[in-house]
Amino acid sequence: MALLMKGGPAAAALNEKTAARAAALAAAGVMPTLAVVRVGAREDDLAYERGVLARCAKLGLAVRPFVLDAAAPQEELLAVLDEVNRDRSIHGCLLFRPLPPQMDDRTVRAALAPEKDVDGITDASLAEVFTGSGVGYPPCTAQACVEVLDYYGIPLEGRRVTVVGRSLVVGKPAAMLLDRRNATVTLCNSRTRDLPALCRAADVLVVAMGRRGAIGADCIAPGQAVVDVGIHTGEDGRLCGDVRFAEAEPIAGAITPVPGGVGAMTTSVLAAHLVSAAEKAAR
Ligand code: NAP
Repeated sequence: MALLMKGGPAAAALNEKTAARAAALAAAGVMPTLAVVRVGAREDDLAYERGVLARCAKLGLAVRPFVLDAAAPQEELLAVLDEVNRDRSIHGCLLFRPLPPQMDDRTVRAALAPEKDVDGITDASLAEVFTGSGVGYPPCTAQACVEVLDYYGIPLEGRRVTVVGRSLVVGKPAAMLLDRRNATVTLCNSRTRDLPALCRAADVLVVAMGRRGAIGADCIAPGQAVVDVGIHTGEDGRLCGDVRFAEAEPIAGAITPVPGGVGAMTTSVLAAHLVSAAEKAAR
């Protein structure tokens, strides 16, 4: 039976450290504060926002919401980001994307100050993932993959890791973070040939394909650690991942569940980034 790598305990361990750091900042008169910027009211955004608000409340972090109409012009959003950048009492910013069609994603991302980019959306943050420059922060989900593996003691150095999916939000930054841990990383995309063989060759398999149940027993090697980033609603209405858990679990050595795996870590990583941003600003 595989070790079940639940996100909850890993998140709790991270939260404990974050709360202690937040308390130290509060004692020094600094309240870590997150701007949450939302355009419109997509159900996905609202659900994530509720999770972020609850996490921040539990950890003693403040949130400043900025909500724009779905039809708002881009200038309005740029003005909000300018305000966020200038306000020294705001340390980090979560901006929900995708943006509505009247807005240009690249222009908007470039408008956020990298030191407040706690969700890893600016080019500076992506450069940080590659270089470890210390400016900006890795995308939270990508970092959550590494945090979960670390919490459960899965070795990375010198190990073969296959990452399936190369989005800038998850796959590509996860691959770079794993490379920085001296894993030997294979990054797969939709044109990759013989995906099952590349998956089976890995000691650690990270799946971020956005394809419900696409990874089955033929992709899993005995003893392998499997991180499933996918989130979907199954035909039965229940949440499920990119990996067919019932097939993979008996073969794998360790596996994250969906729900309750990587997704349970994401807001905790965001909160840790916010506290880091507040600490840097207070120096
Ligand atoms: P995405 O932008 O759609 O990217 C999917 C990636 O998978 C692409 O790089 C694509 O390759 C690759 N891919 C698709 N089919 C493939 C195939 N047959 N073989 C190999 N690679 C294939 O998705 P995303 O934003 O990275 O998200 C991935 C999943 O994670 C989604 O289910 C999403 O809901 C979930 N997610 C979870 C969290 C969380 O907190 N747990 C956060 C964010 C996302 P190409 O580049 O060639 O198209």
